[in-house]
Amino acid sequence: MACADDVEAFIALGANLGDGAAALRAAALAIDGLALTRVVARSSLYRTAPQHATGPDYWNAVVQVRTAQSPEALLDGLLGIEARMGRQRPIGAVNAPRTLDLDLLLYGSLQRQSERLTLPHPRMAARAFVLAPLAEIWPEGRLAGSSVAELAERRLAEGQRIQRLEPL
Ligand code: ADP
Ligand code: MG
Repeated sequence: MACADDVEAFIALGANLGDGAAALRAAALAIDGLALTRVVARSSLYRTAPQHATGPDYWNAVVQVRTAQSPEALLDGLLGIEARMGRQRPIGAVNAPRTLDLDLLLYGSLQRQSERLTLPHPRMAARAFVLAPLAEIWPEGRLAGSSVAELAERRLAEGQRIQRLEPL
């Protein structure tokens, strides 16, 4: 359920352990089930090569929500879904393979930098696996003065390997 004074936010979904496609579908349903939040658009599912990491290829997607939650409460909801779906964070392992990763990309036009939450997500503009699905559901989107679709094209031209699959 969402209220009249809600905000548009975008969430990146990723997984590269187990049945990632099933994990992303279950996560999208769980996000829609968060209090005061509903999913209003879903990108396709993508298969992508790991960036700055080893391990199996990833599944990735982006969903758009409308929410009346604060950004921190929304992040708590996302981390709770990760935990319920078996996410483990091995100590000291950066970019470790994961059953589910949910990142808050954008919360309206809010800019924030705290210990818990940075908005817009600090690495999104470098990642074709975020930009391409985001451009699919937000074709007019802009990020720090650039078009999201153009940024996606640039990252793809740099050789980041992603493949668009079926609807999420
Ligand atoms: P990553 O997604 O970078 O691989 P994690 O999923 O382990 O790393 O997230 C580590 C922490 O990043 C989270 O506990 C969260 O507090 C913090 N964080 C900061 N900004 C964001 C954001 N925009 N979206 C999600 N997590 C964020
Ligand atoms: Mg994360």
